[in-house]
Amino acid sequence: MEITIGKTAGFCFGVKRAVEGSLNEIKNEKEKKIYCLGELVHNSQVIEKLKEHNIEIIEDINEIKEKNAKVIIRAHGIKNEIYEIAKNKNIEIIDFTCPFVLKIHDIAKEYSEKEFYIFVIGSEKHPETQGTVSYCGNRFSVIETEEDVQNAMEEFNKSKLNNLLVIVQTTFSEKKFAIIEEKIKKSINKNINLVIKNTICSATNQRQKETDELSKKVDYMIIIGGSNSSNTKKLYEVSKSNCKDTILIETAEELDIKKIKETYKVGIMAGASTPDFSIKEVVNKLLKNKE
Ligand code: SF4
Repeated sequence: MEITIGKTAGFCFGVKRAVEGSLNEIKNEKEKKIYCLGELVHNSQVIEKLKEHNIEIIEDINEIKEKNAKVIIRAHGIKNEIYEIAKNKNIEIIDFTCPFVLKIHDIAKEYSEKEFYIFVIGSEKHPETQGTVSYCGNRFSVIETEEDVQNAMEEFNKSKLNNLLVIVQTTFSEKKFAIIEEKIKKSINKNINLVIKNTICSATNQRQKETDELSKKVDYMIIIGGSNSSNTKKLYEVSKSNCKDTILIETAEELDIKKIKETYKVGIMAGASTPDFSIKEVVNKLLKNKE
């Protein structure tokens, strides 16, 4: 059996920073209760580890009743009003918003102040998009699909502004963005000042590209990641289209070793929220079987 682990498999820069930073925070904080606003990463093993250390996951900052608590902010950021609520309630913020997301917030704020209407390309329900629009003032539209462009253009025209900014959720698909961008360009009046900033993070694309390449070369592909992680599911889809023997597992326990022949070339990829220890456990199980 030949095993190849993708170079980009596992935590991206922003998630690594958030998970390691949180574990460090737990180690050093002896007095204050620590909360996490939403799941730190979409991975149940990491969440269990945090819970073991008494970190409580909450969905709303108002759930924190005690004074002097700390709250961890995830890599994809929060709405700007949450900072204000925390300040008023004397809650200390441990901010692990990814610098790439913070950059989008800065762009949104800057252009909103410069009288730009803003199109945010992304999923309306995604916490990152919800955070981003809170920096856009009240003149913005969220575009998730090609079909949303017309409605967004109508709203923009109603605003009577001459400036339009387009920004994108960091994990949005490049392919879908290209289609939406083209449609916006076609729909817009020539005298409008259009500024497009492709703010998609390369971490997502690199993982998809490597999965695509690796899954063409192997007999069996193992994608490791949380079942609720959208970037992991995407890797599974990409791999399955090239290699029919692709499986998606969260832990080594789910791996049915009997299905993997000794002569197989096996490829391993993992989503951006999959910890290294999950990858190692899978590799160890495969290696054990080889002995
Ligand atoms: S995917 Fe990119 S933007 Fe999102 S947390 Fe990872 S590095 Fe940051």
